[in-house]
Amino acid sequence: MGARRLLADHTTFRVGGPADAWITATAEADLVEAILRCDRDDVPVLLVGGGSNLLVADEGFRGTVVEVAVPGVDAQDRGDAVSVTLAAGEVWDDVVSRAVARGWTGIEALSGIPGRVGATPVQNVGAYGQEIAQVVTSVRALDRSTATVTDLSVDECGFGYRTSRFKQERDRWVVLSVTMDLGVSGQGAVRYLELAQALGVEVGGQAPVAAIRGAVLGLRARKGMVVTPDDPDTWSAGSFFTNPIVSDETAAAIPAACPRYPAAAGVKLSAAWLIEQAGISRGFAVADDAPAAISGKHTLALTNRGSARAADVVDLARVVRLQVLEAFGITLEPEPVLVGLSL
Ligand SMILES: Cc1cc2nc3c(=O)[nH]c(=O)nc-3n(C[C@H](O)[C@H](O)[C@H](O)COP(=O)(O)OP(=O)(O)OC[C@H]3O[C@@H](n4cnc5c(N)ncnc54)[C@H](O)[C@@H]3O)c2cc1C
Repeated sequence: MGARRLLADHTTFRVGGPADAWITATAEADLVEAILRCDRDDVPVLLVGGGSNLLVADEGFRGTVVEVAVPGVDAQDRGDAVSVTLAAGEVWDDVVSRAVARGWTGIEALSGIPGRVGATPVQNVGAYGQEIAQVVTSVRALDRSTATVTDLSVDECGFGYRTSRFKQERDRWVVLSVTMDLGVSGQGAVRYLELAQALGVEVGGQAPVAAIRGAVLGLRARKGMVVTPDDPDTWSAGSFFTNPIVSDETAAAIPAACPRYPAAAGVKLSAAWLIEQAGISRGFAVADDAPAAISGKHTLALTNRGSARAADVVDLARVVRLQVLEAFGITLEPEPVLVGLSL
């Protein structure tokens, strides 16, 4: 256990105050034991993987950070598919890179997403027409309400757009490993227009998974969506707001130019379009010298220019939210997990 480590040193936003205690778990039994010990002692727990979807208050965390760093990969050949079980501490993009090198299919469009495997089911990570829910078959998790380890089938995970049961029941579950079925043909489905255009194929067509990974990494780099140590445009949590899902009636009142997609409970609107049309452009900040700013490469990313504190990011987020609310009557919801603060 280390002393008073700063969340700022372990989050891609580079903000967040000290934790009272910090445990890095590199074996599943140690991870389970650490959590159950905290629960028994009534010590609040903050689970952290790569810290790429977290905005933690400047006051830090009064409790124990448990960093999930358990490695492990097991692959079972099933002929026309492979069943892969990944321990929660595996680095997600290393997993994608190795899968693509073997010609495994189903996660290639999720290239370049930072963080670790254990957090991927939490917000059902997605990008460029793929999301993790499409390939997950089960999730092994510690249920803190009963202190037991259990296997959840994909139907029990409650996956939705950037959400899941693990996000909804935040202090209940610790993801220990994720099992997914991947194809083995080496050819991936291209379901997203911008990606299809980059690859020169039709939406609904196919391309080699290595080409898809290359195209996705190129598109992401141009948007500042690949964490790069010397580029403050990437010191963020990726997209800060989710695309709002609104009723058909609300959507009808939004200008037709706003990109929109069918969603389970209505219509999903482009948050980036709403923000831009509300008068907020790339590089926007609440003041010229404000230390938090909209990325110079992508309107959806709030970034730390170098000296930002969590409070600066919150100030910026509130302004963006208010301008969109005033312009369109829609309240944007944050995508990252906020700890010790709210908008
Ligand atoms: C530049 C950039 C680009 C991004 N692009 C995308 C994108 O395209 N699509 C997308 O979906 N996301 C994207 N993200 C967001 C983020 O990378 C993902 O949500 C990622 O899965 C978070 O992983 P992590 O290990 O960093 O999680 P953390 O930030 O460490 O944690 C996130 C949440 O999960 C919880 N958690 C962590 N590990 C566990 C566990 N083992 N069990 C239970 N709960 C756990 C934490 O307590 C916290 O609530 C991006 C972020 C950045 C910085």
